[in-house]
Order: sequence, then structure tokens, then C-alpha cells
Amino acid sequence: MSQSELCQSFLAVQARLRQALDEARRAPDAALLLAVSKTKPASMLREAYALGQHHFGENYLQEALDKQSALADLDDLVWHFIGPLQSNKTRPVAEHFHWVHSIEREKIARRLSDQRPDYLPPLQVCLQVNISNEPSKSGVTLDELESLAASVVELPGLALRGLMAIPAPSENTLEQRKPYARLRAALEALRGRFPQAPLDTLSMGMSADLEAAVAEGATLVRVGTALFGRRDAP
Ligand SMILES: *Cc1c(COP(=O)(O)O)cnc(C)c1O
Repeated sequence: MSQSELCQSFLAVQARLRQALDEARRAPDAALLLAVSKTKPASMLREAYALGQHHFGENYLQEALDKQSALADLDDLVWHFIGPLQSNKTRPVAEHFHWVHSIEREKIARRLSDQRPDYLPPLQVCLQVNISNEPSKSGVTLDELESLAASVVELPGLALRGLMAIPAPSENTLEQRKPYARLRAALEALRGRFPQAPLDTLSMGMSADLEAAVAEGATLVRVGTALFGRRDAP
């Protein structure tokens, strides 16, 4: 993808986001655009940075660390880890990321908290919810959510910011909105239960359905393909 194509796709996604916020009568800055850059080279992230993009989402640890090194001169990048996280890989995530969206086990949360360096602010985290109840998909069920949240709010190295979900794909906006409405309701319930936590984040919406997510209150949309083009298999 050329630099001008990248610029076009960023402008197009920014316009979609602005229009979705406008239609939902929400403020123009009410949802953050997270650029999901997995499998894309550091040079492309650098071009996106030149277009004003600061928040990047990565799924694969080693690939992300390599890009962070290559882009170390850009000191206001914000790195979000959004992929499945195994317990033997928590330390570099705790040391090198600002956010983790994919917390689904207390053990992982505890390790991230213990391993978060003292010189950094708490790691900002979202709990991943299996919102469409798909067997063998990542995330906790809605039934398990409160107990995981109760553990995570106690961890000093973490700040519990909200919920993340990847719903089962569906075709039309009305159907796409249903799981996002459930996630929004789950966040509201947690806010009532844990008023001390900074629960302000709904990480939901991707290239195909960001409008539906924004209509249901997404505060952060995670967009890859629509910004960077199609991915080859990793
Ligand atoms: C890859 C990925 C995305 C981006 O998906 P696109 O359809 O390419 O926009 C968003 N969230 C997560 C968790 C991902 O793994």
C-alpha cells in the first residue's frame, strides 16, 4: 500500500467514525481509533504516525516488540496488546505496553500486576467477554465477569478500564448492535458494583462493524483491515 493509499484509508475510516458518532449524537472525540497493525511492517506504522495516529494495537508479542524497537524514536506512541496472552509472556507485556484488552483469567492479571515496573503507571486493562457465547472463543462469559472484575480491581499494578469483545460476525447493523448492547449493559452493571474503578472503556467495533459499535457506545474501536489493507496469514 502506497503512502497516499494509506492516507486515503485513514481519511475514510476517520470519516466513518465521525459520521457514526454524529448519528449517535455523541461528541466527535467520544471514541478513540485504535489502529490494529498486526502483520504490518514498522515502516507502515511510521507513516500512520505521520498522519496523526498514536494508538496501535498488536496481537503477537515478538512482532510487537520488534516494531517498538524500530519506532523507539517516536516517544508518544501508545501500545495496546489485544491478542491472546499466555502466562509465560506476561513480563514483556507488563514492561512494554500501555494497555491490554484481552484479560480473561485472574492468573494472567495477577502476573501482569506483579510484573508491572514501579516506574510506570498502572497497566490499563479491559476484560475480554465472550459476548456471543461461542464455544472455544476467547473471553469470560457474562456469568463469570463479575468475579474476574472483583479480582482485577484489587491488583495495584492494573487499572480496570472496561470491557472488550469480538462478537460472532453478522450481516446487518441491527444484528451487529445486539451483542454490543449486551456489552454496554455489562459495563454499566460493573460500574455500579465497583464505583472505585475507572470503568470508562468499551473496546468494541472493527473494520466491518464499527458503526454498530459506536451506536451502542463504543469508546474505542479497533480497526485493522480498513486502515492497512488485507493481512496475509501470520
Ligand atoms: C485483528 C483484530 C482487529 C482488527 O480487525 P479488522 O477486521 O482487520 O479491522 C480487532 N480486534 C482484534 C482483537 C483483532 O485481533
